[in-house]
Amino acid sequence: MRVGIDVGGTTVKIGFIDDYKIIHRLVVETNKDTLFDDIFIAIKKYAEDNNIDITGIGFGLPGHVSNTYIDKLPNIGIYDLDIAPIANKYFPNIDIYTTNDANAAALGELLNDKDNVKSAYMITLGTGVGGGLVIDSKVINGFHANCGEIGHIYVDFNHNYQCTCGLKGCLETVASATGIVRLANEYYNQFNTKIDKKNMTAKSILDAAKQNDELGLFILNYISESLGRAIATIELCVDVERIYIGGGVSDAGDILINRIRDYYKKYSHYAIKDLEITKAKLGNDAGMLGAAYLF
Ligand SMILES: [Zn+2]
Repeated sequence: MRVGIDVGGTTVKIGFIDDYKIIHRLVVETNKDTLFDDIFIAIKKYAEDNNIDITGIGFGLPGHVSNTYIDKLPNIGIYDLDIAPIANKYFPNIDIYTTNDANAAALGELLNDKDNVKSAYMITLGTGVGGGLVIDSKVINGFHANCGEIGHIYVDFNHNYQCTCGLKGCLETVASATGIVRLANEYYNQFNTKIDKKNMTAKSILDAAKQNDELGLFILNYISESLGRAIATIELCVDVERIYIGGGVSDAGDILINRIRDYYKKYSHYAIKDLEITKAKLGNDAGMLGAAYLF
């Protein structure tokens, strides 16, 4: 059986996977000092208790990784660590595979797609904006292990907000959950709105857009245009079959996805206008499923 692991800032989700289905799940707390020992011990115990033969272990990790070497997982506080020697203590004969968590989620969504899709790009709209690229059913990590970092494409010439990465005007500064709230604060006094300024969240702003709130609609349009333009740029470079939009912000649903499609059509080259843009379906399971099929 394959094991796919989605490492998050507070918990680690471990999936035992057979024939593209998650047969069993384990959750362990994210403890930076013992993280990989904790994970391998939990897998080993479950596998031994249930007489399971493990064929490989794949990780989706929130940061920079290359083969089994972790450059940095900034949200967890792990730097310069090779997982292989730790894995070797528990599973000397099993190979370990890693990728960025957004790449793992992209592969998971593609594998779950009923249309036998082979190439796709997934965009995750959460606290930040992440992305992952899959071509011929293989995750593309890139030379710097930085492929898919769409959040830092320069799209927002209007505000040039400072991004956490050090650059300005990144997609993430407007189209992430935090970016949406930032924009709403910036434009709050320019529109008629019923949105409660003190308790604004990306959800409350996009929910207001569904009620035709002027400010909500302005923000919805603004982020959709930024995303549509970014996807038009990406698609010229990668030419994939499908774009999946995931992450908490995508829960806004059709109103957001449809508007992104409209702006994509407006900004994309004529030869790639029929690209399909859909909402991601797997939610939190995508990372586990994708990680289990890195090999
Ligand atoms: Zn940035």
